[in-house]
This record gives sequence, structure tokens and C-alpha cells, in this order.
Amino acid sequence: MGRAFKFVILGGGVAAGYAALEFVKHGVHHGDLCIISEESVAPYERPALSKGCLLPEGAATLPSFHTCVGIGAERQTPKWYKEHGIELVLSTRVKSVDVKRKTLLSAAGETITYKTLIIATGARVLRLEEFSVTGAYANNICYLRDLEDANKLVQVMDMHKGGTAVVIGGGYIGMECAAALISNNIGVTMVFPEHHFMARLFTAEIAAFYEDYYMKRGVNFIKGTVMAAFESDENKNVTAVVLKDGTHIKADMVVVGIGIRPNISLFEGQLALEKGGIKVNGKMQTSNASVYAVGDVVTFPLKSYRDMRRLEHVDHARKSAAHAVQAILSSDKVKDYDYLPYFYSRVFTLSWQFYGDNIGDCVIFGTLKDKKFGAFWVEKGQVIGAFLEGGTKEEYITLEKIARLKPCITDMESLARLGLSFPFDFKEPVIPHSSLIPFLGERGEALLEKPSSLFFQVSAGIAVAVGISVFAVWYRKKRRRKC
Ligand SMILES: Cc1cc2nc3c(=O)[nH]c(=O)nc-3n(C[C@H](O)[C@H](O)[C@H](O)COP(=O)(O)OP(=O)(O)OC[C@H]3O[C@@H](n4cnc5c(N)ncnc54)[C@H](O)[C@@H]3O)c2cc1C
Repeated sequence: MGRAFKFVILGGGVAAGYAALEFVKHGVHHGDLCIISEESVAPYERPALSKGCLLPEGAATLPSFHTCVGIGAERQTPKWYKEHGIELVLSTRVKSVDVKRKTLLSAAGETITYKTLIIATGARVLRLEEFSVTGAYANNICYLRDLEDANKLVQVMDMHKGGTAVVIGGGYIGMECAAALISNNIGVTMVFPEHHFMARLFTAEIAAFYEDYYMKRGVNFIKGTVMAAFESDENKNVTAVVLKDGTHIKADMVVVGIGIRPNISLFEGQLALEKGGIKVNGKMQTSNASVYAVGDVVTFPLKSYRDMRRLEHVDHARKSAAHAVQAILSSDKVKDYDYLPYFYSRVFTLSWQFYGDNIGDCVIFGTLKDKKFGAFWVEKGQVIGAFLEGGTKEEYITLEKIARLKPCITDMESLARLGLSFPFDFKEPVIPHSSLIPFLGERGEALLEKPSSLFFQVSAGIAVAVGISVFAVWYRKKRRRKC
């Protein structure tokens, strides 16, 4: 039994939905495109799982958050796929891929062939069973990656309103789930090995603001340690979490958010891999010309930082998917993917956005107590990252501009003093068209005066050379005349 498609998208998450939209924009023929997904529903906006879906009242349910509502586009329900002639092969796990033969094999034994494959397999959560944690198989331990996980979390929360939960992990998932648990009237203790929240992005000062906010809502923190085991009852429900130092924390439920692992195993030994992801070029093309990869699973050239990165964020999933489809359909017209990292989160009534890179020195501005503050990251004299809590749409747009332009600064104190007015007052240099010669200074900054001074030096050099030649000819003639 087998089917054949011109284009196959493997994976039915965020990137798959946005790739489908891009195919439709370009006018894909009915029957040319197929999406194969292990999930039982059409692609949806995954961030909704830890936000709208966990609200105590008026929680979001499908079909309200199918892609591509995240960018204000039409909701892609199963009917939408049907109308556009896109085959949705749901509840189907692909168990092997042969990229030389351009063939996929499903767990049910079906063979699907393609001309071009887009890998959009995303990532899966790290589970405590993988680390042989005692009691890790208990019923009331929740994870959060897909709709099934979200449904289970809602169910377990409903059973324990007024009770207590332990959240393991202090990253995005831990932070967002802790806020949801509190909103559902469940007391929370967070346990994580780092010294503060969101250690991969926040500085200690930024984290302190959010931790303080959480503590005022009743969240307890146990930092700098890890859990060692669970204690469970005869019904296989966790009753307590045991920490490495032997501390027991009573719990009616547990939420685990300790990270993810990209789903690359189907392609190991077949495609080039880097930094734990599938390596792609600026067109999102893998080491096999017929195979593209997008979203959480790829390690791609981050052009503006001259680095290879793998990002686990929805904006990149959406944009890389659209870029891959454009490259597949009109490769010669498409430039290399030039992505500016962008992350965001919403917890309680707080909301922040971050653009760029968080390396170098961090300068905080604004007042934390007014819930309106931000930060700039400065590396080698250039502002390369910008963060803002509680910003307006206009402020976030300006922040994005600054992270993209990477302006040079010399005085960190005045940057902190200027705060948000720095990006607002910053004028993008206007370069006369005739002098658009890229010329980089020591720190990589564009030096606008250099091209003209270079021109002057070259011109002067030529004039001197011509002068010497003319003098040499005149002198030789003069000597010959004398002889
Ligand atoms: C709860 C939650 C909240 C989030 N919130 C934010 C946020 O606020 N901001 C932000 O920037 N990012 C957020 N993210 C991250 C964002 O959702 C991901 O970056 C994005 O979903 C990645 O898209 P993707 O298509 O690459 O992978 P996914 O959306 O994970 O999709 C992968 C798909 O591939 C399928 N699949 C995998 N292997 C196979 C196989 N062998 N056979 C068939 N199907 C397969 C999976 O079932 C899944 O459908 C959040 C993630 C989660 C889980």
C-alpha cells in the first residue's frame, strides 16, 4: 500500500501549519501536498497550550487556536485543508525515512513517497522516566507539549483545586504553568537547579522582579537543587516530592518542565546534523537537496551573528516554514534566511518581549515597581539585545529595530538613563547611494566616511605614480640629450 505526493511535510505542528499557508499563497495544486502528523488534530498554535488553554474560566479550545490565527490569518481547520486540496494524514507516526529513496514508512506500515520533503518534527519533552527517577510513572505527573498533555493537565488541575502542586523546572514551561496553577487556586512550590528563573535569558535582576511577583501570589521557590524521587500512594499518585537533600514536599500533583529534545532520530546517519539539530543552509535546505527542515528541529545560519543556532520559539517556526516554502517554489528569487531572534511570554497580567541576543553586559532601565522596565545587552560596544516588560506595540517595534540595527554606544550609564527614549531617538544612518560600499570597522560597525577617504587615498596614489613616471621619462630624455 502506498501514496505519492509532490510535497510532504513531516510533522503537524506550528511550522507545518505556516508552511501549508505559504503553499496555498503560492497556489499549490490539489493533491500535491500532504501533512503527516502523530497528533490527532490539524496544526495549532502550540503556545496557547500554556496560556489560553489553562485559564480557569473561558479556556481556549480547538478549533479557536488552529494555525495561523497567531498572525491574524484565517484559521486553518480540517475544512480549510480539504478546500485547498491538502491531505491531512493525522494520528500517524512515521517510523522510518529513506531520504535516498524519498520514502517514508508509517508505524501502520503505509509507504508515502515525495519529491520534496519538509521536516517539521519539532521536539519532545524530556521525561523523568529517561533519568530513571523513582516513581516517575505516577498518574498525576504532568508534562506540556501537545494538546493531549494540556487536556490531562486541565483534568488533573480540576481534581485538585484548593490543593498543592510542585513544579519542576524554572524555564518557560515552569513559569507559565506555575502562573496557571495559581490562577486555578492550586498552591505552588517551584524547584529548579539554577539560582533564578529563566536562567537562559533573564539576568538575576530581571528574574528577581518576576520571582517577587510570583511570591506575592503565593509561589514558593526552592532554588539551586533538584528532585531525587517521588513518593506515591497505592493508586500510583504522587503524594510527595523528595529533593536531593532529603526534603519532602507534599504534593497533590506535579508539573515537569525540564526541557525538550529535537526529534532528529529518523534522520541520524542520513542528513548532516549540528548542535543537536538538522543542519540547514540559508534556504532551510538540508544536506540532501530534496529535503528541507524548519522550526525547532533545525540548526540554521543566524546571519546577523555569523553563528549556527537552534531556536525553540514560535516566531522562528512560523518564519522558517514560510521561508522554506518560498525557497522550494522559487529558489532563485529567495535570499538567505535573515532572522532576528524574538521570544515572548505572558504570565498573570505580565507580558514581555525580547529581541536579539543576550550576551555581553546588561543594562537595566525603567522602574521595576511600576511593572514597566527593560534591558539592553551590549556586546563589544554594540547594543545587540533588547527586553521590555509591559510595553506597547509601538515600543516593541522600536526595540526590534534597535536589536536589528545594533547601534554603537560608548556610555553604558547614559544608555541606562535614556532607557526607552534611546531606541525612540536613535536615527538610522542615512547613507548616500553613491557611497554604499560596505566597510567594517574593528567592531564590525559600518564606517560611513571610509569609502570616500579610501577613494582619496587611491586617487592620490595614482596621481603620485603618474607623476613619478612622467618625471622618469623626462629625466631619461634629458640624460640622452647630454650624452
Ligand atoms: C506549552 C508551550 C508553550 C509555548 N509558548 C511559547 C511562547 O510563548 N513563545 C514562543 O516563542 N514559543 C513558545 N513555545 C514554543 C513553540 O510552540 C515551538 O517553538 C513551536 O511549536 C515549534 O514548532 P514546530 O512545528 O517546529 O514543532 P511542533 O509545534 O512541536 O510540531 C512538531 C510536530 O511534529 C509531529 N511529529 C514529530 N515526530 C513525528 C513523527 N515521527 N511522525 C509524525 N509526526 C511527528 C508532532 O506530533 C508535532 O505535531 C511554546 C511551546 C509549548 C509546548
